[in-house]
Amino acid sequence: MNPVDLRSDTITRPTAAMRAAMLDAEVGDDVYGEDPTVNALQRRLADELGFDDALFVPSGTQSNLLALMSHCERGDEYLVGMDAHTYKFEGGGAAVLGSIQPQPIVQDEDGTLPLDKLAAAIKPVDSHFARTRLLALENTWHGRVLPLDYLRAAHDFARERGLALHLDGARLYNAAVASGVSARAIAQHFDSVSVCLSKGLGAPVGSVLVGSAPLIEKARRWRKVAGGGWRQAGMLAAAGLHALDHHVARLADDHRRAAYLAGRLREIAGIDLLGQHTNMVFVNVPAARLAALDTHLRAAGIRISIGYLPTLRLVTHLDVDDDGIERVVDAFRAFFARG
Ligand SMILES: *Cc1c(COP(=O)(O)O)cnc(C)c1O
Repeated sequence: MNPVDLRSDTITRPTAAMRAAMLDAEVGDDVYGEDPTVNALQRRLADELGFDDALFVPSGTQSNLLALMSHCERGDEYLVGMDAHTYKFEGGGAAVLGSIQPQPIVQDEDGTLPLDKLAAAIKPVDSHFARTRLLALENTWHGRVLPLDYLRAAHDFARERGLALHLDGARLYNAAVASGVSARAIAQHFDSVSVCLSKGLGAPVGSVLVGSAPLIEKARRWRKVAGGGWRQAGMLAAAGLHALDHHVARLADDHRRAAYLAGRLREIAGIDLLGQHTNMVFVNVPAARLAALDTHLRAAGIRISIGYLPTLRLVTHLDVDDDGIERVVDAFRAFFARG
């Protein structure tokens, strides 16, 4: 029985075709800038998203960290969502390693940071205060696609206030596919964008940061300082290129499956469907039954993450097909039928 793992879209394994592309990759020493496949991946994403340059890095966390450290200096501050990955799930890296103070802002339900709250949080130019330098947004956020007119407004706001604008676009391509606009149309509002190849795109490892040439030059230096200067990384870059060629349009299948799953779970008494956005479904189940539910699902070969109690986040991805979704529906239904 194939496992159906809904914990995250990070758990995807490289397909046979992706592995073949990795084996065939031309490689060189990337610290010398001599890995042709890494260079091709960086060029490809820079061009596709409309930026001067790009940097291939091991993780989204490192990509965001390098962006923050390249936009900001010691004693600077960035505005960020209270529930943003960069603020909450990256070990406080910008503060720990960059001496950059976060100013968290409570997000609206749709993931946007209200411009009036941002305006109120910007510090005056005065030696009492950190220097507010950067606004960081996240798209998708908990699967939600930020509205394009909000991105435009945030861009104009950042320009007026002299702030740089960074996007944690770990799932940028989910946002693009779901809203039917190009990734570039989303990215154009930002000074830098970080994209994960290792989520729904299905590469085993890697993120790419895009930005201006001077920004990426700084980021490249910080990457080396952070121990992220890698050598024959072309085998990994080949997986990323393969993902961009073959796994972008199919994100629509993940979104369709998530919508279908949400519709079926909604019919089950005992499950409270909170919402579905792109490839994520959020449900509440009675906290007292969570452990038993997890055991029941495991026995049926289904994995869920119960880390966000009592809300379950179910994530669809490359390694979950229609049959898998039916098995998930059946298993939930059987569990809750027991009352
Ligand atoms: C996964 C993720 C990251 C970081 O990626 P890692 O590769 O796990 O470090 C950053 N931002 C968001 C929104 C993510 O989902």
